[in-house]
Amino acid sequence: AKRAGKGTYRFFSTRLTEAANTRLSADLQLRQALEREEFILHYQPLVSMPGGRVTGFEALVRWKTPDGKVVPPGDFIPAAEETGLIVPLGEWVLRTACRDMKELLAGGADLKTMAVNVSAQQLRHAGFVDTLQSILKEFDLNPSVVELEITEGTLMGQGKAPVAILHALKALGLRLAVDDFGTGYSSLAYLQKLPIDKLKIDRSFVSDLESGGAAQAIAAAIIGLGRSLRLEVLAEGVENRFQLDFLVKNGCREAQGYYFGLPVPKDALPALAAIKWRR
Ligand code: C2E
Ligand code: CA
Ligand code: CA
Ligand code: CA
Repeated sequence: AKRAGKGTYRFFSTRLTEAANTRLSADLQLRQALEREEFILHYQPLVSMPGGRVTGFEALVRWKTPDGKVVPPGDFIPAAEETGLIVPLGEWVLRTACRDMKELLAGGADLKTMAVNVSAQQLRHAGFVDTLQSILKEFDLNPSVVELEITEGTLMGQGKAPVAILHALKALGLRLAVDDFGTGYSSLAYLQKLPIDKLKIDRSFVSDLESGGAAQAIAAAIIGLGRSLRLEVLAEGVENRFQLDFLVKNGCREAQGYYFGLPVPKDALPALAAIKWRR
């Protein structure tokens, strides 16, 4: 029986009830989905500010089931992490994102970043560094265009990523970003110790900017922290002009969110890469 408590298995419990006689475990379903190439990537633009140029994309995985449903990552990544399938799935994501980035660059797009989310299990898995190295070689990709997004929890929490791995990734020439910054651990000491390039201000702070007060103070403080530590700062989840103006006024140089663009399939990217959002 699957856990009901955390809500992470709702998709699977429904599927399993619907198809009780097949008794496919979450593990087997995900394994089959990977074999049958049912995972797809959507890409969301990263925009530099104040100029408004698209400088890169974040790869976001989805599961397109045979009945045509598009399942969001929140509904299967937790199970993939728990079953270990995140390792081959994560490798597929990395390879596909790198392949697509290479294609965009070869097509003349002026882009500097392809951001890819990485789970704690992937980072801890022996061979992750080698896998990345061989993917970069396979597509003859400059390592500095690949930005690994690692959540604060993965950097700091229980079973945190080994520091040596982060340094090995950095030594390969990759860039490292702290995802969902501000939601995890209050100790900031790790920012000095880890080879981090960028902080991504969590969407929750950005979406509360209009209510004033705490969210504004926190966002401004993160931007200031980034400036003093010489880290780049990107604001996630920008949905409107108010948020954009606040962030720009406070010195934030990069943003991402529905205001600029939803995550879209690869085919839409060459047109997006040419767009410039003017302020
Ligand atoms: P995340 O890394 O924080 O990604 C940002 C999420 O916010 C994405 O949801 C994106 O579609 C959504 N988003 C972007 N802009 C806006 C906005 O303006 N407003 C709102 N309301 N939402 C916005 P998505 O694609 O459902 O991904 C959810 C999470 O799943 C990601 O959060 C990430 O933690 C995880 N994830 C996605 N792809 C992968 C992957 O390939 N590997 C791993 N390990 N995790 C992934
Ligand atoms: Ca992310
Ligand atoms: Ca995030
Ligand atoms: Ca998030």
